[in-house]
This record gives sequence, structure tokens and C-alpha cells, in this order.
Amino acid sequence: MKQDLPLEKILDQGKKIFSVEFFPPKSDAMGEQLIKAAEKIKPLNPDFVTITYGAGGSTRQRTLDYACKLKDEVGFSVMPHLTCVGHSKAELLDILKSFHDTGFKNIMALRGDPPKGETNFKPHPEGLAYASELVALIKENYPEFSLGVAGYPEKHMEAVDLQSDISSLAHKVSQGASFVTTQLFFDNQYYFKYVELCKEAGISIPILPGILPALSLDQLRKFCSFGGSSIPAELESRLTAVAGNKEQEAEVGETWAFEQIKELLERGAPGVHFYILNRSKTVCSLMQRLKDSGIEI
Ligand code: FAD
Repeated sequence: MKQDLPLEKILDQGKKIFSVEFFPPKSDAMGEQLIKAAEKIKPLNPDFVTITYGAGGSTRQRTLDYACKLKDEVGFSVMPHLTCVGHSKAELLDILKSFHDTGFKNIMALRGDPPKGETNFKPHPEGLAYASELVALIKENYPEFSLGVAGYPEKHMEAVDLQSDISSLAHKVSQGASFVTTQLFFDNQYYFKYVELCKEAGISIPILPGILPALSLDQLRKFCSFGGSSIPAELESRLTAVAGNKEQEAEVGETWAFEQIKELLERGAPGVHFYILNRSKTVCSLMQRLKDSGIEI
């Protein structure tokens, strides 16, 4: 059983962070695709990979199963996600024990979204209402875990305004988070402003920008409607110009992501987290383009 590196050790290396996010596959066939993608990404040497935690059902066990495969079979440092949705504190502690006993050192601690069909988040009667409470629970019981938390440059959908969302983030961080990964965004100005406001609010841990290389306008609209991110008019118009041609749409999305990452890194972002949707092609191609342009991550 491979023991992961705690995130602080990775952050202490002082280099730009490169991470990718997988989601738990719904079937064994999709699981094989995930592992094939992971093996293609392995030579790129990501600092860590993450795997999301589903809203319920069998994908939750698959988060742990595939987190183990990615760690022990592929050889990545893996950060499983954990959400509060539908769990009592006792259940969360059981899950944390299994993460701990299987050698994980890092967890992405989240509240989670309301289950399908529900609009408001309702905490489990014996559970937790906010991610900050999960961070506190983990730190109280497993102080050795390094924790990531979520941030929203365009504000979380439920937050009244950006400032109150950042105050909630500051509280979440004060409970023991080591870094923030952002919701995907397509206009870097949101990120730069967010980082500035977070600094003013006393948040000094790294804020890792989350980048989704768009594959098509339809996909982009779907993701932005879930997560509350906006689509810049210029990106929409570039995608509209090639709509219907899958290859060209993906090329537009990749070029946009390349331009975003280049500017983010040049202006001091601590690295980049890729939302890859369990596909390797675009992240491999983007990393090569960055290397060819003299940008090392
Ligand atoms: P919180 O930090 O608890 O915030 C939720 C809302 O409550 C915000 O509006 C915040 O401003 C407000 N708030 C927080 N604390 C307080 C307080 N003390 N008082 C009043 N208001 C408060 N979802 C999944 O289901 N599985 C995943 O694996 C997953 N991974 C994600 C990874 C990243 C990087 C990101 C950005 C999101 C991810 N999500 C995932 C989605 C996430 O679960 C949702 O966005 C969810 O609605 C909020 O989770 P959170 O951890 O940000 O919640």
C-alpha cells in the first residue's frame, strides 16, 4: 500500500502545482477508460490528482476504490474528495478512518450540493451544515490530514454576495485548510480580483485556479449553469463560429485554456488544477503546448 505525500510537503517544494481531477466511473467499462487516461497522464508527473465524491449511491464506494487504484496501481499522490451530503458525523468519521487506513494524506473537504431534484441543502440530522465544520471535524480527529477546500471566484451560487462568500471561506480556512481550489472560470479577471479580496480578508494559503478546457459550447453551457460560472462573449463567439465541428470546438476550448493558464502563471498563480472529465487528450496536449512555449509547471 503506497503512502501519499502530505500536501504541505508538495507546497514546500515551492514549485508551481499541477493537478488533475477525475470523477468516479459509473461502470467497470468507464473505470477501465479512467485508468487508461490516468496512465497516459502519469508521464506528465502531476503533483497530485483528485477524485470527486458523488451525490449518493454506488459512486461513493467507487471514489474510495478508484482513489486506491490511482494511488497503488498508477502511482499518483491522490486526494479523495469528501462531502457532508447525507452523512451523519459518525459515518463521516468511518469514511475518514478508511481514507486514513488506506494511506491517504490529503482530502478535499466539501459541503456538497443538494441531491438531484432538491434545491436547498439540508444537512443530515446528525451531520454537518458547512464545509468549515467538516474541516474542523477532520482536524480534530485526524490532524495529520492536509486539507483542500473549494473557492468561487464568481461567488458560490447560494451566497448573497462575493464578500460574504469570502468571509465564509476565511472561516473555513481558519479551521485548518492548506489550500483552496477554485470553481472553473473562463475569465481570469474574476480570479485575480478574488485572490486580491481573499488576501484582504487575511487568506494567505495558495488559491489554485481550476481550469476546464471546454470541448463544445453545449458542454460549456451545461457546466456553467451547474457551477455559476459565466461564459465570456469572446469564447462564446469563437465556439459559435465552429459549432457542429467537434474537433474545431475542442481546439477552440484548448486554445482558450492555454491562453488562460499562460496569463495565470505569468501573473503569479500557484499552479493549475485541470478539470479533465476523465479524458487525457486535452491535458496532455495543453501541457506540451505550455512546455513548447517555455512555461514549466
Ligand atoms: P461551503 O464552504 O460550506 O459553502 C456553501 C455555502 O454556504 C456558500 O454559499 C457559503 O458562502 C455559505 N457558507 C459557508 N459557511 C457559512 C456560514 N458559517 N454561515 C453562513 N453561510 C455559510 N460537489 C460534490 O458533490 N462532490 C465533489 O467531489 C465536489 N468537488 C468539488 C471540488 C471543487 C474544487 C469545487 C469548487 C466544488 C466541488 N463540488 C463538489 C461542489 C460543491 O460541493 C458545491 O459547490 C457546494 O454547493 C458547496 O460546497 P462547499 O464545500 O464550497 O460549501
